[in-house]
Amino acid sequence: MKERSLWGWACLGLATIVVAGITSGAKAIEPGDTLEHGQDLVDRATTKIDELVAQMRIPPIRAEPTYRQIRYLLGWSLVYADSIVAPHYPLDQPAGLLITDGIADTIATRLSWVVDDFVEQNPEELLSPGRQALELLIAQTQLPPGLFLGFHLHRMALVYAARADSVLADHALADPEGVYDGYIRRLRDLTQLYDQTHVDAANKYFCRVKQEDWIIYRTRCTYCGHQGLRFRDQYSEITEDSSAACQEILRSRDASPEAIDQRFDCRHWSHYFTTVCPECENTSEFRVPLPFYRTLQRRMALGLEEPPDPSMLMRDMGGEGGEK
Ligand SMILES: [Zn+2]
Repeated sequence: MKERSLWGWACLGLATIVVAGITSGAKAIEPGDTLEHGQDLVDRATTKIDELVAQMRIPPIRAEPTYRQIRYLLGWSLVYADSIVAPHYPLDQPAGLLITDGIADTIATRLSWVVDDFVEQNPEELLSPGRQALELLIAQTQLPPGLFLGFHLHRMALVYAARADSVLADHALADPEGVYDGYIRRLRDLTQLYDQTHVDAANKYFCRVKQEDWIIYRTRCTYCGHQGLRFRDQYSEITEDSSAACQEILRSRDASPEAIDQRFDCRHWSHYFTTVCPECENTSEFRVPLPFYRTLQRRMALGLEEPPDPSMLMRDMGGEGGEK
């Protein structure tokens, strides 16, 4: 796919969603709700990522080993997607995309810790020829428009890695340390961008809604193979936990903060979509869990937050899916 068409897409218009409340603290990939399919694959990946990241954070954190460990993690994630996720959930279908995006969010949040540790322990930047050459190449690389999501960071980290490889292949420069140091610092720019768009539950929810747009943009029609579908219909859905304990909690009229809090633990929000292929009119459906929407609702119900600006959630359901 051409880089321009990959990033050159946005889907804005009429809002179909009501939103309320704000919170902070939780990481982007600690969902209170699990995926309908493949949550086990996200969980397995998270265990492995945490293992690798724990090794990276053992001091002293130096440029070359950290660079190599980050490269290993990124390479591992590609192999995992191809060999573990894809056989069960094709990577160009919503379920597969939700899984790989979830893994990318995990990587984004964890790498943020690693590069912050690195900069703390290595405050002096190397501005040597290798770094300068890398900067020149990275300056030609466009960032995606709009909210910076986990899968954006994952892709940009790989693109920057390819740029680093180009510089390292230039033996006349002979400055690998400058490249390693520069790569990690530029990666930190990306993790900071990611952290800014995931600063609290409201923003994480906005990112989720934007991710839904990207999912249909990346989905391939199972009938004709065209990539990029359009929304035909969408609704928000609340399901209630059918366990006896939850049924009792949900029936309770107790208005204490504790009781309100408990009621939220028994409800699950999701968006349910019907999409249509612009080429062959084939329709399909998928569901996206909304853990941070629940967090927002909970915080607002408890009077802890003001409603955020719902204009962030505008979406055109008319099918102007942008470039194809
Ligand atoms: Zn089609």
